[in-house]
Amino acid sequence: MTKRYGSASSAAVDDLSLEIADGEFVTLLGPSGCGKTTTLRCLAGLEVPTDGTITIGDRTVYSAGTGKFVPPEKRAIGMVFQSYALWPHMTVAQTVGYPLKLAKVPAAERLERIDEMLDRVHLLARKDDQAVALSGGQQQRVALARAMANRSSLVLFDEPLSNLDVKLRNSMRTQIRELHNELGTTSVYVTHDQEEAIALADRVVVMNAGRIEQVGTPRELYARPRNAFVADFMGFQNILPATVVTADSSSAVVELDGIDARIEMASDEPRAVGDALLVAFRASHVEVSLAGDVPGSIAGRIRNVTYLGTSLRVLVETANGVIRAQIDERDFGRYGPDDLVDGHPVSLRISPSHLVGLPAPDDDAHSEPIASTMTTRVPA
Ligand code: ATP
Repeated sequence: MTKRYGSASSAAVDDLSLEIADGEFVTLLGPSGCGKTTTLRCLAGLEVPTDGTITIGDRTVYSAGTGKFVPPEKRAIGMVFQSYALWPHMTVAQTVGYPLKLAKVPAAERLERIDEMLDRVHLLARKDDQAVALSGGQQQRVALARAMANRSSLVLFDEPLSNLDVKLRNSMRTQIRELHNELGTTSVYVTHDQEEAIALADRVVVMNAGRIEQVGTPRELYARPRNAFVADFMGFQNILPATVVTADSSSAVVELDGIDARIEMASDEPRAVGDALLVAFRASHVEVSLAGDVPGSIAGRIRNVTYLGTSLRVLVETANGVIRAQIDERDFGRYGPDDLVDGHPVSLRISPSHLVGLPAPDDDAHSEPIASTMTTRVPA
């Protein structure tokens, strides 16, 4: 599926191809402007794509080839937005019941379902209050109940928690995932928050400039990002240039200044001796030692230390560039009061199992063919 706005030189969504299974929870993750919201709006029917096909269950809701376009109200999709989008003149119960009324659900069943949904989001006691008189978190729970009251097989979420404080966000996350499981819906959830994407999803779709960079389970993306963009988004604080010393199809020995390490490669592209590649690792996997010049370690000098309560963030200048290390609270005792200060020499060790090899920036990260379709496998 492709979506181009007006005469824009690049497409907001560029040949995106994605199949979502019935009952799956998929998050679209990426930076601002990467096309997440446009993808969601095309699925909902709020935008008309420029090209491609969208199928929901067995039903084609958009096809550039045949000119078919099913309008949003006929797609039976629930939506939850960042702005709660509640109607000012309705009570909580009327708000949740509105989609049921539109769908001509008989009154008795409607009242039953309103109560059931409000009970699930813990707002039954507030059913006769004006919806907009509730707190932000409560309003978002009303929006959630409204989106799910009609038992839509597909529910779309557009950054629904970004206006809420951290504590509330965490508890709402749990509620959203529980509702998804209990009601057996299929969910597509847009966010730019890596932690949220990982916590909620069965599969995460990482997007960049209108295209998919990688699709995988949270674990796959967390452990095996396929390029530097995904690694950066998945919280690999260190991505350094390195050179291949020896290589076979699935692993390579790479040289960073101070260490040679055998690493598994994220892709099975052949590597030759002397090839440039990137090596990524997390700050929490860097061991900071005060002993100077330890063989198999990277020598450096502390540039900056920041106390974060449960950890210390340490920036170290090395011949490979700046390396970010994180020292956990339980290891604070290993260091004296004057050890971790600016300018102090240190040795850094990273276990090879924590190093991920990534293609160098000029390698083509989009080598596989991308079809121009988008399918959700939910019953229409
Ligand atoms: P954000 O997280 O900031 O909402 P996003 O990943 O959801 O970003 P989109 O809102 O889908 O990104 O935007 C993708 C691109 O399309 C951007 O370059 C944006 O400027 C452009 N765009 C989005 N909506 C429109 C519109 N209605 N008219 C013209 N261009 C648009």
